[in-house]
Amino acid sequence: MSFNLDSDINEEINNDNRLKLGGMHATIANPGVTRHIMKAFNLRASKRLGQNFLVDANIVRGIVDAVGAGPGDKILEIGPGIGTLTQGLAESGAAVTAVELDKKLPAVLAETLAGYDNVQIVPGDILKVDIPELMGNAPFKVAANLPYYITTPILMALLEQHLPISILATMVQKEVALRMIAKPGTKAYGALSVAVQYYTRPHIAFDVPPRSFIPAPEVDSVVIVCDVRETPAVEVKDEKMFFKVVKAAFGQRRKTISNAMKGAGFRKEAIDLALSESGIDSGRRGETFTLKEFALLADAMVTVNMV
Ligand code: SAM
Repeated sequence: MSFNLDSDINEEINNDNRLKLGGMHATIANPGVTRHIMKAFNLRASKRLGQNFLVDANIVRGIVDAVGAGPGDKILEIGPGIGTLTQGLAESGAAVTAVELDKKLPAVLAETLAGYDNVQIVPGDILKVDIPELMGNAPFKVAANLPYYITTPILMALLEQHLPISILATMVQKEVALRMIAKPGTKAYGALSVAVQYYTRPHIAFDVPPRSFIPAPEVDSVVIVCDVRETPAVEVKDEKMFFKVVKAAFGQRRKTISNAMKGAGFRKEAIDLALSESGIDSGRRGETFTLKEFALLADAMVTVNMV
């Protein structure tokens, strides 16, 4: 397919009358180019699939820099859309594997990213694809402008699998990023904070205003960078128990740890024993616990369950 641009966008793109993404590489991260691609392929951004396409080249560059993409890197991109961030990643020289759920888009990407031989498009659901099989055993990086409707399940799936990810740089809703970096005793602190901080060192890289997307989302966004730890932040005897305790604590966050755990189905005698063993005051709420305290309590639960 060739792209006969309307004359008004024509000037914006290389003073050419075709969108040459294989040769001259017009930048997709541009409102005119994005509108043109959407029109040429008769695309409508799907709300259901969380489609908000980036149209700001500075933001794309920011994500590429934040993830530190370059030659020799393998990058997994989640949801390439029409190829906006993919193009920036490909330009860095990294090998990019991009998984896209929308069945209409692989054909579009074949055109918009024509000429980039370092990009592999994989149709499918990131929550269902076999990532180790796709990426191999070598370390890789993750970059994404995540669909906001499933941000947490995607992050949790990536982290819980203990994949050889070195760094993860993604666009997320600002409110979610604040939960990811939240400290104990704050309103934003929850199971997501504990999980992200257990596996990674997260920080917010920069803010992204709604006008950087088409269509503009109704929420503020940020790019968050998570440096994946070589070993988790705290050592635990049983990771499953650790997250069971965390889930119980935040399931009923206004209750004391003792009552919250009872509510989650733990045996009262086991809870009492574990709390006394770990030296944690049974009247405290789990929302005030550090990762270390969750680890102490979870380890004590493992011990008392064995006796
Ligand atoms: N990367 C593009 C950009 O920055 O303009 C598009 C980002 S858009 C916010 C999210 C993309 O993720 C969409 O293309 C959407 O179709 C795709 N997506 C949604 N759910 C997905 C899933 N479960 N697995 C893979 N891709 C998904």
